[in-house]
Amino acid sequence: MKKPSVVIVGAGTGGIATAARLARDGFRVTVLEQHDFLGGRCSLQHRDGYRFDQGPSLLLMREIFSETFDDLGTSLEAEGVELLQCDPNYCIWFSDHDTLEMSSNLSKLKREVVRLEGPQGFSKLLDLLKETGRYYDLTVQYVLRRHYPSLRALLCQPNVFGMLLAMRPWTTMYGRAQHYFTSTKMRQAWTFASMYMGMSPYEAPGTYALLQCSETVDGIWYPRGGFQRVLQALADIGQTQGVEYRLRSPVARILLSDDQHTARGVRLHSGEEILADVVIVNADLVYAYTHLLPPCPYAAALTQRATSCSSISFFWAVDTPLPQLRPHNIFLAEHYRESFDAIFIHHSIPADPSFYVNVPSRIDPTAAPEGKEALVVLVPVGSLRSSGEGSRQDEWGEEIVAHTRELVLRTIESRTGIRNLSAHILHENSISCGAILGLSHSFGNMLNFRPAMKHASISGLYFVGASTHPGTGVPIWLTGAKLVAQLVKRDVDGGLNAVHAQTLLLVSLR
Ligand SMILES: Cc1cc2nc3c(=O)[nH]c(=O)nc-3n(C[C@H](O)[C@H](O)[C@H](O)COP(=O)(O)OP(=O)(O)OC[C@H]3O[C@@H](n4cnc5c(N)ncnc54)[C@H](O)[C@@H]3O)c2cc1C
Repeated sequence: MKKPSVVIVGAGTGGIATAARLARDGFRVTVLEQHDFLGGRCSLQHRDGYRFDQGPSLLLMREIFSETFDDLGTSLEAEGVELLQCDPNYCIWFSDHDTLEMSSNLSKLKREVVRLEGPQGFSKLLDLLKETGRYYDLTVQYVLRRHYPSLRALLCQPNVFGMLLAMRPWTTMYGRAQHYFTSTKMRQAWTFASMYMGMSPYEAPGTYALLQCSETVDGIWYPRGGFQRVLQALADIGQTQGVEYRLRSPVARILLSDDQHTARGVRLHSGEEILADVVIVNADLVYAYTHLLPPCPYAAALTQRATSCSSISFFWAVDTPLPQLRPHNIFLAEHYRESFDAIFIHHSIPADPSFYVNVPSRIDPTAAPEGKEALVVLVPVGSLRSSGEGSRQDEWGEEIVAHTRELVLRTIESRTGIRNLSAHILHENSISCGAILGLSHSFGNMLNFRPAMKHASISGLYFVGASTHPGTGVPIWLTGAKLVAQLVKRDVDGGLNAVHAQTLLLVSLR
């Protein structure tokens, strides 16, 4: 029997990975992407031999990447994706000019922990890893492998209360670090990763300390050629299975049946209509509810929910080598707590911000011409969408961006000893983005509280991207793609079985 047709709105991680999975199962898949490139947030900027990752630069949870390629009958290696390990994972630059190298080499890490925490430091670290390792395993098992369309679905899981108790979602990341470490530096080093989720370590549930466990146990990796390399490989696999990618095809509406209860396809901005049995949205879910579907109270309620933070990014093509920097660098604010409060409570830009500097050319020479460096600076800032002033702006103004640039340059120069960095910038670009990771990842926005992957009242409509369960991050959306593909197959097979049963019934009645 001919498999149903699927249209996917968006060629980001979730869209590309779902397309490849469904095509392998025989579905006829078309992916519609508004831009002229694939990868969504994992896209690249190229100029004069320099390459910059616009979004992700830290590849974590390699096992999920391997699993995805394996499920598609291939492997990262077979598809030519080479992962390079960053050692150290990153260098932390403190305001007192001390540095701390976080490594997944336990012997190196032990030296750093004992330096800051004293002789008991290493056993404290092992205890922390044991606790966070449990969070990691439970999260993979309960959050990434299942979806929860309702509270009932969550409560029906075996041992759900045991799981929730063990994950300690009522604690905070900072609280867990405080429990194990006495030095301010170690506490900060084990908590700033809350920013990966767009949250403050003083608010992010302690469960997310699983991130540091993942980094310490498995390391941080970088795909040679840039993060988009992974997605291009997945898109190529999908195309060999028949996926059609249509770039420069922005979707304006999701088409519904007359009773508004079944998705029928999509209408492009050009007016063209593409009919399909299944519609899967990889664009941000809140955007889809507010721009692609008819208005409803749920859509209005979604716009009131807390979002992740915003960011200002700088992309600098530097004309000289910068051996002082590692591939991943974290510059922490002197007033750590205040800097997070400025972002998450006051929705502003901290006077003294913490920020991240990625230098891909220090791990992958293809990112810049020989003897030069490509730098990406990401400064987390308050979400304009949460300003409470009815602001719907997505970007901070030019003056603020220029001021932030100066602050960042001064901080890098004074802490690393790099002289006159701005004079070495050949060309640059900056982007300021709102709510970079969609809805917040507070406990009230997780599991069944996070919007579900399947629309509650429109059959044939699914979501596989930001603001949807299970969360944010490339590996998270690789597992999200697996979940949504399973859901679609289950529903379609259920539907086909029902049609088959109806046909048999009609035949037997004749
Ligand atoms: C600055 C930044 C840094 C990050 N760093 C990391 C990191 O180091 N490691 C990590 O794992 N994750 C990181 N993330 C998160 C990660 O990028 C995302 O979680 C991941 O890329 C998943 O994306 P997605 O599937 O939600 O799709 P997206 O990448 O959001 O793609 C959605 C696609 O839909 C398209 N689209 C939207 N509307 C329409 C429309 N109407 N019609 C057609 N197409 C449409 C968009 O153009 C886009 O291509 C980072 C994110 C950001 C923003």
